[in-house]
Amino acid sequence: PATYNVEALRDDFPVLKREVHGKPLVYLDNAATSQTPQQVIDVFSDYYSRYNANIHRGLHTLSDEATAAFEATRHRVKAFLNADDARQIIFTRGTTEAINLVAQSWGRQQLTAGDEVLISMLEHHSNIVPWQLLAAEIGFTIKVIPVDTNGALDLAAYRALLSERTKLVAVNHVSNALGTINPVKEMATLAHQYGALILVDGAQAAPHQTVDVHDIDADFYAFSGHKVYGPTGVGVLYGKKALLEAMPPWQGGGEMIKTVSFDAGSTFADIPHKFEAGTPAIAEVIALGRALEWMDSVGVDAIGAWEAVLLTHATEEVSRIDGLRILGTAPNKAGVLSFVVEGAHSQDIGLLIDQLGVAIRTGHHCAQPLLHHFGVDATCRASFAAYNTLEEVDIFVAALNRVIGMVR
Ligand code: PMP
Repeated sequence: PATYNVEALRDDFPVLKREVHGKPLVYLDNAATSQTPQQVIDVFSDYYSRYNANIHRGLHTLSDEATAAFEATRHRVKAFLNADDARQIIFTRGTTEAINLVAQSWGRQQLTAGDEVLISMLEHHSNIVPWQLLAAEIGFTIKVIPVDTNGALDLAAYRALLSERTKLVAVNHVSNALGTINPVKEMATLAHQYGALILVDGAQAAPHQTVDVHDIDADFYAFSGHKVYGPTGVGVLYGKKALLEAMPPWQGGGEMIKTVSFDAGSTFADIPHKFEAGTPAIAEVIALGRALEWMDSVGVDAIGAWEAVLLTHATEEVSRIDGLRILGTAPNKAGVLSFVVEGAHSQDIGLLIDQLGVAIRTGHHCAQPLLHHFGVDATCRASFAAYNTLEEVDIFVAALNRVIGMVR
């Protein structure tokens, strides 16, 4: 896009100026964690220098200021997801904890033996294992939506799997291992026809495209701060209001109660506080708000469009490499390039390319069932963010060629 000024926004990221093994860093592991702009880093020193205090306990200035900044992020996330009400935004440690919250609160209350939960072949372990743990206790069945050879979900198979027994469909919006963008809106419509709910793991979508939970009609939506230019230790669960209100708490402690009595037991706070037991990651939540503000200032869809340019260029260039096979060739893809190279172990490529300053991910990407489906244990994955450049893609491709020459 003509108006996209990648050089200007790179200046916001101090880490991009560093060198690795004497070479300029080319950071292409953004699907694991994106880098953090100075504006977000500054939140931490500002918070701890000026207004570090526990929140929602008012009565003094620092606590009031911390509470206001913390709650301001809730309102920003509400707008970011196009939710109706900020009370539908629950802060968690990340996507993983958000999914575990749904499993342990909604799932434990609603699921029984004989029920079915549909997940997909594309899921990250964090949207598989919480359901397996609960299924082992309760005895419901987990069914898996298959993928086609391009790594796109097989929607005919999805339709065939849906039935009156389906209580929940839990799928990612974008696959971290392949980059496939799933048609979650269409999937939600179908799930709802059977009275099932849909939980969307948005960890890889929120960084790259405008998310509208209203339009998708998602019942639950989760994402992580550290993949949207924010800090680790914070994430979000969005839920429909009536669902959240009916769900039992999953962790008990301070902040989440109305009253506590040894004789009469405890009563619980309203949403969202019912699900936020204990002191949260206050600075991190405030910093997440700043990260989303940064994304909005660039434009979320402009970021996605730029990453598509990078992906197209990278795909074209690596396709010339003899014996290189791309996994994930669905027409709808976000900025992830996953590949294996004949005669070269992914691990070796990852280690050697790091020596040339290029950071990519190698391994199973927490999606072992998917990789096994494609007959591999590991892939190399380059994943793009707002600040990557076409020159960096060229450096990566040249480095990859060099490394392959070394190991073959
Ligand atoms: N789902 C997907 C699709 C992911 O890519 C990730 C992170 N790799 C997660 C869930 C888990 O996120 P977190 O580790 O931040 O909880």
